[in-house]
Amino acid sequence: MEEFLAPYAAHSDEGPGRRCEETAHASRSQFQRDRDRIIHSTAFRRLEYKTQVFLNHEGDLFRTRLTHSLEVAQIGRSMARNLRLNEDLVEAVALAHDLGHTPFGHVGQDVLNECMQPHGGFEHNLQSLRVVDHLEEQYGAFDGLNLMFATREGILKHCSVSNARELGDVGQRFLDKTQPSLEAQLTNLADEIAYNSHDIDDGLRSGLITIEQLDEVAFFGRLWREVQATFPGLTGRRAIYETLRRLITALADDLIATSQQRIADAAPRSIDDVRNGPPLIRFSDPMRADATELKRFLRANLYRHYKVNRMRLKASRMVRELYAAFAADAQLLPPDYREPSGDATKQARRIADYIAGMTDRYAIREHSRLYSLEEL
Ligand code: MG
Repeated sequence: MEEFLAPYAAHSDEGPGRRCEETAHASRSQFQRDRDRIIHSTAFRRLEYKTQVFLNHEGDLFRTRLTHSLEVAQIGRSMARNLRLNEDLVEAVALAHDLGHTPFGHVGQDVLNECMQPHGGFEHNLQSLRVVDHLEEQYGAFDGLNLMFATREGILKHCSVSNARELGDVGQRFLDKTQPSLEAQLTNLADEIAYNSHDIDDGLRSGLITIEQLDEVAFFGRLWREVQATFPGLTGRRAIYETLRRLITALADDLIATSQQRIADAAPRSIDDVRNGPPLIRFSDPMRADATELKRFLRANLYRHYKVNRMRLKASRMVRELYAAFAADAQLLPPDYREPSGDATKQARRIADYIAGMTDRYAIREHSRLYSLEEL
């Protein structure tokens, strides 16, 4: 099944494999199995109701973490195929990369991290790994999904040194300062391509940013004018989609060509060579500069828009108050989340698991069940 892969791609039969040994499946590769396990997980279904930038209930057409993850998988797979990398691994990592995200986007993680400071903090990447390693309850033989090492490595994009020390094999690269597989490197950048383009679309749809503003961003402006020249008079959604399609294609094509060249220059013969070399999946310098300008624009004008700031204020208050209530009295938690030993740090981690697992609307309901006199 993996005969078309380049020698430097991740192969199922190389590396540490699964933590709990399992017999190979006759009709699916190991990474296809991982992907299937992720799709059938509870945490994956919750992504549908978790915020990407806009709260889930703000509109039916905005991206959620679920549609974002699907877009990352699509972009990642098509780039992987061009580079003869393992598409199945890319797909598995893409679908799992946001499983540990809290409700309400990044603000939820920031607040939970603050609350958890005395107990080791909270990182969403680490939580994604915790979901697939421990929290999913699907199998009789083990906790979690028992995924392949390469999938777990790809999920853990970043990690503090102190957390890396606790993690064993999958944390080791942060201590050794080595690279993950090319599939992991690629999925990371597929994530960036996906959110840069879909956040423009959602930002325009919401009216928080305008075409006139975006026209000032060199990269977008160039493509927008190309669309106007090809289809004179084209306006509205079609003009936006024409531009965004070109934007995704420009980023993906640049990444493929640049990475192909870097791989040819470094000539890795195996995944071990990849791990011990420099990062090989990259944008060209001019494209990196264009993408950075675009990210800066989105940060200043969309992620820090005053209306988004107001949403963030409410969300942070809600997460802080949820944590405070449970930390003050563990008896308010559902029984599954109470730590029987009474150990304060373990209890705090279970509270973080409970809150991080909530969808936006579940968190809002749970908050009002705890704090509103109208709600029972
Ligand atoms: Mg993402």
